[in-house]
Amino acid sequence: MDNIDKLTAAGLFTRNVPRYTSYPTAPQFHDGIGSETFENWVKTLPEGGKLSIYVHIPFCERLCWFCACRTQGVKSLTPVEAYLDVLKIEIAKLAETIPEGVTIARMHWGGGSPTILQPDHIDSLMEALRTLAPIDDDWEFSVEIDPAAVNDDKLDALARNGMNRASIGVQDFDERVQKSIGRLQSYETTKGIVDGLRARGVDSINLDIVYGLPFQTSESLGKTVDQVIELNPDRVALFGYAHVPWMAKRQKMIPEDALPLPLERFELFNQATEALTGAGYVALGIDHFAKPDDSLAIAAAEGRMRRNFQGYTDDLCTALVGLGASSISRFPQGYAQNRATTNAYSAEINAGKFSAARGIAMSLDDKIRSRAIETLMCDFYVDIPELKNEFGDFSAKLSKDLKKIHAEFADFTTLENDRLTLLPEGFHLARIVACGLDAYHTSAGKHSQAI
Ligand code: SF4
Repeated sequence: MDNIDKLTAAGLFTRNVPRYTSYPTAPQFHDGIGSETFENWVKTLPEGGKLSIYVHIPFCERLCWFCACRTQGVKSLTPVEAYLDVLKIEIAKLAETIPEGVTIARMHWGGGSPTILQPDHIDSLMEALRTLAPIDDDWEFSVEIDPAAVNDDKLDALARNGMNRASIGVQDFDERVQKSIGRLQSYETTKGIVDGLRARGVDSINLDIVYGLPFQTSESLGKTVDQVIELNPDRVALFGYAHVPWMAKRQKMIPEDALPLPLERFELFNQATEALTGAGYVALGIDHFAKPDDSLAIAAAEGRMRRNFQGYTDDLCTALVGLGASSISRFPQGYAQNRATTNAYSAEINAGKFSAARGIAMSLDDKIRSRAIETLMCDFYVDIPELKNEFGDFSAKLSKDLKKIHAEFADFTTLENDRLTLLPEGFHLARIVACGLDAYHTSAGKHSQAI
């Protein structure tokens, strides 16, 4: 059997599996985690703890059909301003709850489109956020920029408020592909924003490419990747289009018969990977690339790369606190997610509560499996002696799972001294292999394609 046949037999082209940006994954969240638990978890943050803050802005000027983000299209700023008012109430309550001695090391504004905010919104939101806790001098403040919803004044406002990283969705520069996903964005527009960011001292720029979109061909994606390389980003994320119309209703607009088949997706991914690594980018985890001197590449080389809701990160903060509708927080004790709709979120905050409505408290078994899946997704190994150092002897119970995984994926793994290694020719299988460590996984779950 050649490698493709073996990957086929392992389920790469047929299985739908979680992305493992968290473990336990979101479908395991239940309504037993609410405002009170969230408040307790915040109050017990340790002295000297570092916080990563995520702010969700669930509004867009345009609604791209391929996008599964929780966001809503708006024609005026009225709902955005009403939401900002509620967000500031949530921030004030959180500021009263965060214990002394905790500082902010990271902040990320995502959405939706944070750049739907006007300059005065940006100033006032950051003014409120600065009351949460002291901000570390070397903090990172990153913002998702929608080139169609940004201008010089907004970039000025973000820069004067400390933005030092930016992330821009390119997806694909080919016009036919763009039309089929309801998102027109020229290379020139994107270049103008990249140049504008650099002119304002924002040196760290991430560009996202999506493979597996309708009408994408080897030629069209090749051209897009070359254009992305010309823009000289520090990091590139190469995400597979996840066609989940049962969850993201607007994906029903996507012409399904024009979607590349699984084997074509595999080839598109490999082609883009070759182009990026050929241009000097280092491949990180399953779908990220960075210049060798970028902090994420350095973290990966030193074994400090982590996986979170944004993909890969070098964020080692004690906790991530998500603000806004549908945001997910991660504490040492577990995960908590805010109410999903802006109305339900606002009602809770206006009633003087936190808005957490779902989540999961992590057992020791969850924590061990979470770390095991993270090392697999980041560094392609699971090492029980290493887990024992961190979590104690209870970690030994994963031994049985590693043996089972090795037996199932013998062509793609080695197992020596309780250390499972995923071989380079099998790294595409990382998400499938991770299912073998997931105590909750069932094949009935509705996830995205493995490739
Ligand atoms: S891709 Fe960005 S701009 Fe488009 S709908 Fe999603 S969040 Fe909004």
